[in-house]
Amino acid sequence: MTFPFKDAAFILDRLQDHGFEAYVVGGAVRDYLLNRPIHDVDIATSAHPADVVSLFKRTVPIGIDHGTVAVLNNGHSYEVTTFRSESDYDDYRHPNQVVFVLSLEKDLMRRDFTINALAMDRDGKIIDLFEGKKDINCKRIRTVGRAEERITEDPLRMMRGMRFASELCFTLGQTERHAFHDKADLLKKISIERINQEMTRLLAGEGVSDALGLLFETHCIYTLPMLKHADEKKAVSIHYKRLQKDEERWTAFLISQGIEDVFAFAKSWKWSNDERRRVARLVKWTKYRMNMGWNKESVYFAGICDVKAINRLLASFDKIDEQELSNQQLKADLIWENCPIHSRAELAANGNHFINWSGEKPGPWLAKAIKELEREVVNGRVNNDLEAIRSWFENRQTTQKKQS
Ligand code: ATP
Ligand code: MG
Repeated sequence: MTFPFKDAAFILDRLQDHGFEAYVVGGAVRDYLLNRPIHDVDIATSAHPADVVSLFKRTVPIGIDHGTVAVLNNGHSYEVTTFRSESDYDDYRHPNQVVFVLSLEKDLMRRDFTINALAMDRDGKIIDLFEGKKDINCKRIRTVGRAEERITEDPLRMMRGMRFASELCFTLGQTERHAFHDKADLLKKISIERINQEMTRLLAGEGVSDALGLLFETHCIYTLPMLKHADEKKAVSIHYKRLQKDEERWTAFLISQGIEDVFAFAKSWKWSNDERRRVARLVKWTKYRMNMGWNKESVYFAGICDVKAINRLLASFDKIDEQELSNQQLKADLIWENCPIHSRAELAANGNHFINWSGEKPGPWLAKAIKELEREVVNGRVNNDLEAIRSWFENRQTTQKKQS
């Protein structure tokens, strides 16, 4: 057997040369067996963090309390963690005590799922104490040890389990389904930021429809903020595969659930301002587009990237099929290319011109006037040159004075 994680081999070699045990563990071994791209190579060792620091040139103590040291090499970072076990989770998330242990076995026992509790030694031999390989072959998520206990220790594991089900297209074991159902309420104890991370990844997985089905079957979904009355049929009917970005998937999910108040949702899920703004914008334009076709003005104000995202959203709701989606994307490109300007910055005049020409102080009138000018230029009613804009502006001033 060969060792597939060539870049990390020097770490295992050096630790072993100094009498320590060292293995690649967790996601890297799982993804290697599944033939999936490997993100991070994590290493578990019998060496204490201080030993790890002294054995390698460049290290960063990223989680010394948890025994984790990052070893840097050639632009890569490898997390090297001392074998440990965890006990007494009385806040449902953080173990009260991290105990360094001497055996790999104890370290693997603390891991969440059998598919994540595999280790590989330097010769490429896989250590599989909990039938993780069998579960990989059966495409099944099972906890290491008794499901109820493991979930009570850390309820986030429920979200992780369903997120892995989505990303890997795996099913959830029967015992785990029952345990998740019984313990669903414990998710309320978990920080919403962590739940949000898992939910975002769940929505992006290949097996998202089935994973959403699990969220409903286990009732976990009803414990999440603003989803007490979530609707399964509507949630699973979306073609998430037609969407490209997290914000598009969240938009589709919120629209499917009839959640109108994006601000309230963003607040209860602790989204960043940027996430909130992106989703609120897509929701607004998707609703517009459900009733109206695109024209120069709406393509300009939405921007070509959002126009394309909104077309994908329509496809995700089956309002248009794949063929129509690609027609719509070409049409949007054409409208965009034919737009006289693509942003406010391309206007031949700006706010300073308006202030000088009018002799008025800046105020809300200015933003209004600029927006009007954008509309006129985009629709081809005013040429985008200083002369034409000045004469439009002066006409506008005269009309407004007459009216007031
Ligand atoms: P990915 O990085 O694709 O999410 P991963 O398996 O590497 O998958 P990480 O969150 O990076 O997941 O965690 C690394 C390993 O640490 C996991 O494979 C698992 O063995 C263990 N682990 C992570 N979170 C938990 C948890 N909440 N409870 C128990 N073990 C965990
Ligand atoms: Mg990982």
